[in-house]
Amino acid sequence: MTGEMTTMLDPASLTDAERTRILAKSALFNPPPAQLPDGRRELVGLDRDELVAELAAIGEKPFRAKQLWHWIYHQGTTDFSAMSTIARPLQERLAERFVIGRPEIATMQTSTDETRKWLFRFRDGQEAETVYIPDRHEDRGAVCISSQVGCTLSCRFCHTGTQTLVRNLGTAEIVGQFMGARDAYGEWPSPRGETPRLLSTIVLMGMGEPLYNYENVAKAMRIVMDNEGIGLSRRRITLSTSGVVPMMDRCGAELGVNLAVSLHAVRDDLRDEIVPLNRKYPLAELLAACRRYPGASNARRITFEYVMLRGVNDSEADARELVRLIAGIPAKVNLIPFNPWPGSDYRPSTRDVLDRFAAIVQDAGFASPIRMPRGQDILAACGQLKTESKRIRA
Ligand code: SAH
Ligand code: SF4
Repeated sequence: MTGEMTTMLDPASLTDAERTRILAKSALFNPPPAQLPDGRRELVGLDRDELVAELAAIGEKPFRAKQLWHWIYHQGTTDFSAMSTIARPLQERLAERFVIGRPEIATMQTSTDETRKWLFRFRDGQEAETVYIPDRHEDRGAVCISSQVGCTLSCRFCHTGTQTLVRNLGTAEIVGQFMGARDAYGEWPSPRGETPRLLSTIVLMGMGEPLYNYENVAKAMRIVMDNEGIGLSRRRITLSTSGVVPMMDRCGAELGVNLAVSLHAVRDDLRDEIVPLNRKYPLAELLAACRRYPGASNARRITFEYVMLRGVNDSEADARELVRLIAGIPAKVNLIPFNPWPGSDYRPSTRDVLDRFAAIVQDAGFASPIRMPRGQDILAACGQLKTESKRIRA
């Protein structure tokens, strides 16, 4: 056998090839450049090297990038004239060439339970939703961020899944959702170790499949995690995937954020139907990827999300099979009663069934909290997000 053949048959290089294919496809859905019609460049979303390069292009030294980074991501400033460590003439030159923007707030709604939902509108008019879910007991909460406008996957129980993928969100748009939410709560400057802010964690659980927009999501999370800016630790970030196996390895190796996996069924025949991505990456491969996920330990457990659909996946046999499948993985299981949306054809499991299912999982040694819906009155609960944005065909 030739050397070339061996490489082709090597499972590791097959995975590499698959990753390359996923990334190439994802690039087709990239957003338009982060630039205004007047030519000014958006600074939010540039990484440190890119910021240095933009400044070098106008003859400024690298330390200026550090200063700007501080104003943008630590102070939350959007106005160059407020940057007191930068002299007036340079402030003016910066304002001529650059902008520090936020996505426009198209609507903002607050639920009776204090959950808040924004519909953000981006420069090309496309829209995505972001949700803030305050903790019920403490002065903190999670910001649920979207990674795509729409989704290519069509999980049967998910509202976003009924909207075809319009496009990926860019780095500025992903970071911008968090920054826009922070503006609304007056949460600047970023904390430095001391009192955490209300907006203290990020969950990538909004619209879209984050691992089908990996490059933009990863870059955005690196900006959010940078210690001299927003400074959220990777332990405060959770990425949820429906199971894009080849990208799970990369996410673990490069970002090391917490992982949540949308399991929802414990048999391939059922999962094929309700999470169609399962036909490509079946349960055995998905669970193997979870076992490989770096840093999984009792202190950093993988979250399995399981939407409880009445009479579909909520039997005691399902619960026992679930426990068998995840045996040995440091994990917890979030049981999410199905959240209905206009036109959906499932019903949530009854309280009794939920409790029995949870008890079986609990008895096997896995925490199994039942996630009561938040913000249902404003369609902000898991799986209820959807926008009117449509793909415009050329
Ligand atoms: N695309 C990613 C992240 C976004 S969805 C993923 O699928 O993991 C966030 C979570 O909400 C997922 O676990 C998803 O399966 C779940 N979900 C989707 N629709 C739901 C619904 N109608 N009720 C409850 N949970 C739902
Ligand atoms: Fe997409 Fe996640 Fe909804 Fe499935 S559950 S359609 S992957 S957003």
